[in-house]
Amino acid sequence: MPLIPMYQCLKEAEKGGYGVGAFNVNNMEQIQGIMKAARELESPVILQASRGALKYTDLTYLKYLVQAAVEANPEIPVVLHLDHGDSLETVKTAIRLGFTSVMIDASHHDFETNVRISREVVEYAHEFGVSVEAELGTLGGIEEDVAGTVQLTDPDQAEEFVARVGCDSLAVAIGTSHGAYKFKGEPKLALDLVQEISRRVQIPLVLHGASSVPKELVDAVNAYGGSIEQSSGVPVESIKEAIRYGVRKINVDTDIRLAMTGAVRKTLFEAPEKFDPRDYLGPAREAVYRLVAQRMKDFGSAGHARDYTPITLEDMKAHYKRA
Ligand SMILES: [Zn+2]
Repeated sequence: MPLIPMYQCLKEAEKGGYGVGAFNVNNMEQIQGIMKAARELESPVILQASRGALKYTDLTYLKYLVQAAVEANPEIPVVLHLDHGDSLETVKTAIRLGFTSVMIDASHHDFETNVRISREVVEYAHEFGVSVEAELGTLGGIEEDVAGTVQLTDPDQAEEFVARVGCDSLAVAIGTSHGAYKFKGEPKLALDLVQEISRRVQIPLVLHGASSVPKELVDAVNAYGGSIEQSSGVPVESIKEAIRYGVRKINVDTDIRLAMTGAVRKTLFEAPEKFDPRDYLGPAREAVYRLVAQRMKDFGSAGHARDYTPITLEDMKAHYKRA
């Protein structure tokens, strides 16, 4: 099936009571590892690219790698999403490349500016049938050039924001952060906030910075010469609870990075005579596959690929015109 809009993906997830993993991609092995998991587990999947990933892949490579993934896996519903779009210009680039969903992250601006910028993107993207994720509240941590102080999402503001912006989904700040160092001590998520916001806004919620940073992945990196400080990520149990309360899209990037790095380090350490990139990128691809397969089971999306009768961006254009 062709790429599907995020709108459909998250609607299906809502119906089925599950969450869909949104995995960051910037090369072939990641995409192949993720798609192998989706195929085996018959799961819908969201592939997302940040501005950094678009730059790294020179736009065109990313476009065709994802096109290859879709062609090679006709049974799997795939969404191609722009992660942390910073401006209408970036959004336009993504839509030109064939993305079926974009995020506009104006959350570091004041409320009124965030509304104005996000609304402008919604008006533009919906003309093309493309879904829009906006963000209210700010996460901690660092993800490429996304950084800031923590400001949890306020339910009153969320209600007003969604009503005025008309976005399809909302990224909320409930205590998660970007990167590998999320919590110094016990992980604390404001799950009551998820419940309250979900009840008030009536659209699917998105959880950023939702890697679990499993100890075994960090250990695997450190066992072969790496030096990563162990910290706690978001416990899978907390994510499952958030899904019960209305989170439908769960962003995972750090865990994939850790899994690949561990596999590359292990291979090169154990076989220092190897120099064919396939010898270490192959195991890295398998590590991505194992991690993503586990998350598809954790989030409950496994087995749901068959539920989808794909709708197109043309269908979505008509939908937005009616709305
Ligand atoms: Zn994010």
